[in-house]
Amino acid sequence: MKNSIKNTFLYNIADSLVTKTFESSVNIIRTSKDDSKFNHINSKLSYLLYIHVPFCDNLCPFCTFHKYQHNIKESNNYFKNLREEIKILKSHNVKINSVYIGGGSPLINADELIKTIKLVKELFCVEDISCETDPNHIELNTIEKLKGLVKRLSIGIQSFDDTLLKSMGRYDKFGNSENIINRIKKIVGVVPQTSIDLIFNLPNQSEESLRNDINISKSLGVDQIVTYPLMNSKLNSKFLEQFIPNTNRENFYNIICEMLKDYNQNNMWSFSKDEYNLDDEYISKHNEYIGLGSGAFSYLQGNLFVNAFNLKEYEELLKSKKDTIIAKSTFSQKEQALYYLLSTLFSGSLSLENYKKMFGKELEVQLNKELALMKYFNLIHMEDETIFLTKKGSYVFIIMMSSFYSQMDRVRAMFRQKRVL
Ligand code: SF4
Repeated sequence: MKNSIKNTFLYNIADSLVTKTFESSVNIIRTSKDDSKFNHINSKLSYLLYIHVPFCDNLCPFCTFHKYQHNIKESNNYFKNLREEIKILKSHNVKINSVYIGGGSPLINADELIKTIKLVKELFCVEDISCETDPNHIELNTIEKLKGLVKRLSIGIQSFDDTLLKSMGRYDKFGNSENIINRIKKIVGVVPQTSIDLIFNLPNQSEESLRNDINISKSLGVDQIVTYPLMNSKLNSKFLEQFIPNTNRENFYNIICEMLKDYNQNNMWSFSKDEYNLDDEYISKHNEYIGLGSGAFSYLQGNLFVNAFNLKEYEELLKSKKDTIIAKSTFSQKEQALYYLLSTLFSGSLSLENYKKMFGKELEVQLNKELALMKYFNLIHMEDETIFLTKKGSYVFIIMMSSFYSQMDRVRAMFRQKRVL
């Protein structure tokens, strides 16, 4: 009993630490006409490029990502603009080593997507490209066209439980679980790595249903299984209000870790069959990244830049200013350090030497209170100048990362509601 009170207290602290830090640091201001994310690029570094494709056939009510109902004319035009933006990026002498294409459903307009990927490969020396998809766009002939272009295909499944798929508004659009399983079976192994995204702690999700999701995912032989907790934010709270919240998050997370203990843990919610460096969370492996496309974020030299959400505004900025940012938030030194701590430790470990190289100060000096708190609650242990998360720490970092994403949703909500800055 005493332990459970202490844990609840700890989880509340973790949640409010991230919320408070990023609530104030995500202090978004509209950018001036002279601001440009390209002024914050270091030509000696190689970056991760994030490309956003904001179209879906089905707007799932629980989903907080930036997306519009798909329209072929609009998406053809959008991809054309995206390729222009990629050429502009190239003109700034930027090095890109890794690309993550997210959405939305990037494969919704496969021909245009493929043209865009080919352009990226032609202009940059890219080591790997990851691409998200929904389960409706994984026909064998489409995925075969990605051979040699995409290294990792990440399929958003969320659950194999038909009752849950119905309550999430996915059953009618994406089909029942049997149908989805058959589609996945046909394409596993076509590109080098296939990954499945699941959500746990859904309303009405039982332990049996969760175990079934993990067992099916394992039996499909996919290279990676990613299990996100359901995240509640301003953008989906109305939909989620109708359900009784599931209070099993910690228990479910422990079950997932136990069931996937024969896998390698890439970060706190991602597990791979082999020892690939498969990290679905691009922010945890790349301290800085560049975002292209409508609604994409970039994080460069302590600045979070936000691209235009509205497609017309995105196109106008691309043509007039050659940069599509509309807003930014500049993090203080302390906020940058906390962001680094959160995103790096989320992948399991943090090297004190790398921290010092990055910030010019010892972590023990700059974040002494946070470090003491993490030690006191037994969230970390140290070995050879490296900090590792304990089992308890892993769960706390799940809470913290979810809170961080909720803060990012706060930014999306500002623009979705057309709040004037
Ligand atoms: S869950 Fe996937 S398919 Fe559904 S709205 Fe979100 S991005 Fe689109």
